[in-house]
Amino acid sequence: PLVRSMEVIERPDVRYQDIGGLDQQIQELREVVEFPLKKPELFKELGIVPPKGVLLYGPPGTGKTMLAKAVAAESNAAFIHVVASEFAQKFVGEGARVVRDVFELARKKAPSIIFIDEIDAIGAKRVDLGTSGEREVQRTLMQLLAEIDGFQPLNNVKIIAATNRIDILDPALLRPGRFDRLIEIPLPNLEGRKQILKIYISKMKTSEDVNINELAMITEGFSGADLKNLCTEAGYVAIRNNEGTIRMTHFREALERLKAKKISKEVIDR
Ligand code: ATP
Repeated sequence: PLVRSMEVIERPDVRYQDIGGLDQQIQELREVVEFPLKKPELFKELGIVPPKGVLLYGPPGTGKTMLAKAVAAESNAAFIHVVASEFAQKFVGEGARVVRDVFELARKKAPSIIFIDEIDAIGAKRVDLGTSGEREVQRTLMQLLAEIDGFQPLNNVKIIAATNRIDILDPALLRPGRFDRLIEIPLPNLEGRKQILKIYISKMKTSEDVNINELAMITEGFSGADLKNLCTEAGYVAIRNNEGTIRMTHFREALERLKAKKISKEVIDR
């Protein structure tokens, strides 16, 4: 079946080393996803039951999707990417059918990781189920819970979900045996921003005066995605100035532009 809301990547090309500032989160994901996928017999022997589902939560652009892809790559697992907001289908029963198809595909491709982005789109607490659209979303969630409940913790399919809005999730999703491992993915701190900047700057042709420590200090509040943008934008500034290397002033100019954009976006979002 052709399902527009689902993408399968056999082996994503993201590695742990491409991710900055999330060492502890990577370690935790390795223990609860990678090792059980690679060595289920070890867990059986020791009598340890790993979680079936892991929920990554935190602000946008902090690397949740990247992390899920990297775990799949490092576990030699297929990566099945679904965006929950696209489950909400136009036809009755379709969302639930997509969920069934996703799990069937995951079993066929196993070992595999199902990544459900924006899980709040189907997993938010609902106060009333007045409209048919809301009932449809509810049915989709029920099907997801049934699929999760229906498989064993040690079979070779794992589910990773992501959200920016853990506060609105239906507690049914977080019950034991479902998404019972929560991993916070926060905005990077100073050290994290340094690591992320290093990753991107090492791939660019920059002059010696580019000071990563200083850049990290003046980018408080920036996500990984923002920092990557900053690097790209600095490159554009250099190109615009007809220069063959990217200098600190280019980063400064780029930063001014991005800060202006960020502020106007925050105003619009408000
Ligand atoms: P969203 O909630 O908006 O889906 P997300 O947390 O899933 O965001 P990603 O899609 O993983 O964020 O990040 C967007 C891009 O930003 C990544 O493709 C990567 O280029 C960059 N990025 C984000 N976080 C990091 C990080 N910790 N290290 C390196 N790059 C990062």
